[in-house]
Amino acid sequence: MRETKDSFGRSISYLRVSVTHRCNLKCAYCMPGASGATYPQGDMLTIRQITRLVSIFAPLGIRKVRLTGGEPLMRKGITALVRDLRAIRGIEEVAMTTNGVMLEQMAPALEEAGLSRINISLDTMRPERMRALSGHDVVETALRAIRTTAAKGAWPLKVNVVAIRGFNDDEIQDFARLAHELPIEVRFIEMMPTASNRLWDGRGCIPSAEIEETVRRDYELTPFPGSSSGPAVVYEVRGGAGRIGFVSPLSRHFCGDCNRMRLTAEGTLRSCLFSDREIDLRPGFAKDGPDGWFLEKFYQALAVKPEGHALTQGSAATCVRPMVAIGG
Ligand code: SAM
Ligand code: SF4
Repeated sequence: MRETKDSFGRSISYLRVSVTHRCNLKCAYCMPGASGATYPQGDMLTIRQITRLVSIFAPLGIRKVRLTGGEPLMRKGITALVRDLRAIRGIEEVAMTTNGVMLEQMAPALEEAGLSRINISLDTMRPERMRALSGHDVVETALRAIRTTAAKGAWPLKVNVVAIRGFNDDEIQDFARLAHELPIEVRFIEMMPTASNRLWDGRGCIPSAEIEETVRRDYELTPFPGSSSGPAVVYEVRGGAGRIGFVSPLSRHFCGDCNRMRLTAEGTLRSCLFSDREIDLRPGFAKDGPDGWFLEKFYQALAVKPEGHALTQGSAATCVRPMVAIGG
């Protein structure tokens, strides 16, 4: 398998694919409000076009694909896409990040299609808070999806929790307890100042060190041996079934290890979560371009991949694309 490196020597092996910028929830830190950041215009790539792009990029060393959105389970043909991507030579893993609302009904088909792993996002276990954050009361549904998925054991399961001061900081131990009880990895994520973040006022983000300190009041954490790569620092919960991870885009820069590229739902390549310097792949489809045209565009996107983002605690948003149209 070939290895492709960017200008800073980072090996690129991971493609995050946003399959839709539609969503059944309206999380206030993700989805722009009426006066917020605007959505990209244009049609979304077809399932066949996404599959073609991944098969063109796989020989460059892409081994892992994560399907995200918007809400990926809302995308028609998502199960077929999982199956098609799994069949591509060199693609070792097809993962998904979902809010879990539609997971229970779709899990058997996704398992059959060969989905490798799954992350379910849930920031609060209190129904009234969920309603305030996302416009919907889906706590029970998401929790049931988490418990059923954990019990079934078909996929390694992570639960993404965006930690927000004054909103869910009093639920940190509740989530730690979930990681103690179930064979899952609860990941606390620092809230990021994207353009679509209607909650951002510079004070809402809780640094991972503070969350870790809170967790350690009740739980003993020991370093998880397999956690040296990737953006999370992961610990085992002493005497428990699961693990706890901390993803710290603001307090601990992990750009030096970044191995990812992003494909947006309407067909642009984005080399950094926080950079709007996107490379448009759509003309290639419009003029029935050969694989080489798309490969050239991949290298162009790689060439503008920045060394890192300049986010520091309290800094303003650095990209105009809303998170719901990037995929996290
Ligand atoms: N709808 C799916 C979900 O919620 O899991 C997938 C898309 S969502 C954009 C992917 C992840 O990004 C979720 O875990 C979400 O919590 C996270 N996210 C969205 N906006 C964020 C922000 N401003 N800061 C940190 N994480 C954010
Ligand atoms: Fe939808 Fe996920 Fe964004 Fe919430 S975080 S609005 S579920 S895309």
